[in-house]
Amino acid sequence: MKILVINCGSSSLKFQIIDSDSEQCLAKGLCERIGIEGSQITYQKTGGEKEVTQAPMPTHTEAIQLVIDAITNPKTGVVSSLDEIDAVGHRTVHGGEKFSKSVLINDEVIKTMESCNELAPLHNPANLIGIRACQELMPNTPMVGVFDTAFHQTMPPEAFIYGLPYEYYEKYGVRKYGFHGTSHAYVSRRAAEMLNRRYEDMKTIVCHLGNGASISAVDRGKCVDTSMGMTPLAGLMMGTRSGSIDPGIIEFIAHKEGLNVEQALEVLNKKSGVYGVSGYLSSDFRDLEAAANKGDKKAELAMKAFVYRIIMYVGGYVAAMDGVDCICFTAGVGENSPTIRTMICNYLFYLGLQIDQKKNQTRGEEIEISTDYSRVKVLVIPTNEELMIARDTVAILEGRL
Ligand code: AMP
Repeated sequence: MKILVINCGSSSLKFQIIDSDSEQCLAKGLCERIGIEGSQITYQKTGGEKEVTQAPMPTHTEAIQLVIDAITNPKTGVVSSLDEIDAVGHRTVHGGEKFSKSVLINDEVIKTMESCNELAPLHNPANLIGIRACQELMPNTPMVGVFDTAFHQTMPPEAFIYGLPYEYYEKYGVRKYGFHGTSHAYVSRRAAEMLNRRYEDMKTIVCHLGNGASISAVDRGKCVDTSMGMTPLAGLMMGTRSGSIDPGIIEFIAHKEGLNVEQALEVLNKKSGVYGVSGYLSSDFRDLEAAANKGDKKAELAMKAFVYRIIMYVGGYVAAMDGVDCICFTAGVGENSPTIRTMICNYLFYLGLQIDQKKNQTRGEEIEISTDYSRVKVLVIPTNEELMIARDTVAILEGRL
């Protein structure tokens, strides 16, 4: 089957066409600045040249039309007509407690998704706009929603409940949901395949370390805890997000700096994390590492603090699962930074974990970096959320999910 995978943001839209039989990406691209002047589409057929075309996109409907034009283009396209697209898989961010797995989209599902909008006001409405635009242009093609939160729905109540009045959970759904679930699901499954072990027998910790970062504990195929919360602001320190902090700080800073709640949260989302700690030097670990190597103390502190929070979670998750077989690194930093991986693993000797520094120099490739003697396997696995979305879409169409 050929699956169009759509990841729709408020002003951008990423897409891929995946052949589900070979699991190969046939073409991919990105529409940027939707609804803003200067919009453009980038398109690349696998093995072909990257094409960038300026084109007006007042709404997501025009953007999807341009995607359709690109993939059906007689010269550079990958399908001869839209009929060849068997289904569209949509990345959808927040499914609340309503969606614990991917779902075939119909009017009722859309209504339910709308009820989750207030849990992810930046992301969910954009996902819905993308779904509606696709439905308008491809009315006969089945659409599947694959939720970022779904994989984490297996967490037990003691892991997802906050120490708040229980009525907030009942009335408003205030609880931990977790994000990056499609990535955590893909990587934890792939780890079992790489190690030639049954997924249902393994205890795995997945470190998704990108600009947004989260970590999860996957106990015999089920997520039992994850670091992000009701919103993607919780947990690890990130590129520009604070991660979990003392909640009392919000009021304190708001008072000192003369900010309202929205402004204080803007600081926590956009000016914090390693960017904030480094004195607004950069949120990019390449810059931080270069600066730290030249003696910049704040850049060094930002990296150390980022790592410290990760190893605190690793320790917690080993306790929660009563052991760990495998630790996986994925996303921009996890896949590409031997330095950060080393800094993390240096804290984990107590687990009998050892990495091979030569193998650890690999960037962006699937590899086992632990030594033969290591009691815990350490893997680098480039994430592939699009493939996971395509797999789920096919599984739904075939009635397997
Ligand atoms: P992501 O959000 O998964 O796309 O990750 C983006 C982040 O990955 C960037 O902000 C960088 O901090 C990090 N990154 C990408 N390449 C490298 C690299 N070669 N070394 C260290 N960090 C990297």
